[in-house]
Amino acid sequence: MNELKGLIKQEIAQLSGKPSVLPEPTGRVGQEPVCPLCADQGIIYDATQDLARPCSCMRQKNLYHRFRHARISQQLQACSFARFDLSYYESSEDRDRTHEKNARTALRAAVDFCASCAQHPDGLGLFFTGPVGSGKTFLAAAMANDLLRQGVQILFVVVPDLLDEIKSTYDQHSEISEYDLIETARTVQVLILDDLGAHNYTDWTINKIYTILNYRLNEKLPTIITTNLSVREMGEFLGDRTTSRVVEMTQGYQLSCDRDIRLQKYQRRAKK
Ligand SMILES: [Zn+2]
Repeated sequence: MNELKGLIKQEIAQLSGKPSVLPEPTGRVGQEPVCPLCADQGIIYDATQDLARPCSCMRQKNLYHRFRHARISQQLQACSFARFDLSYYESSEDRDRTHEKNARTALRAAVDFCASCAQHPDGLGLFFTGPVGSGKTFLAAAMANDLLRQGVQILFVVVPDLLDEIKSTYDQHSEISEYDLIETARTVQVLILDDLGAHNYTDWTINKIYTILNYRLNEKLPTIITTNLSVREMGEFLGDRTTSRVVEMTQGYQLSCDRDIRLQKYQRRAKK
């Protein structure tokens, strides 16, 4: 057990030692400019047209200001398509290699989405379903990181955090209104809802999620969703109205594996 703790600590130390390549909202990390697009100047100068325009990181910064929980954690900043390791989906029990095939298909869909998102947004998002530890959040975070690097404005939120955040606006002292938050989630270029799972939804929270998704569906704004619920279970938790929107606005992909990938990672490190 202590060995496992040691390995976790080691992993965290390794991850936090990695330089961030994302536009971080608050100041600089070390001496390196944080935004690769504008080197933290906030504007991009186009010499061919003799024009300066605000960098996309400024909008992203504004958005982080509104959502306390929207910043992608240090750990998730390390997620990339290149680091999505298909070997975790191999298993001797899985003769037909179903897990690996599923993972490959999901990865391809995620890469394709990011490649075409800025140029040809058709509004169709992605839906990743699978058990805990099957790589859903990793894939969603890899997408978020890729899109941020392209200058696409995104909002990556864990669903329970989003609901807490909206609730906290009811505090009289809150500077931000519920309308602002809902409006941001509705209108952001790409919304990533991580863990739309089996939480304690009230009619009120279900209605908020419905409002956001329905708006995005009508405006053809893509949404990426991860969940450990099947579509049928989602109907039970979120109601048919919301579930039918999810089905209509996303292409679904299944992730599966025989053993939790987090555990596999620790075991591999322990062997080294
Ligand atoms: Zn910038």
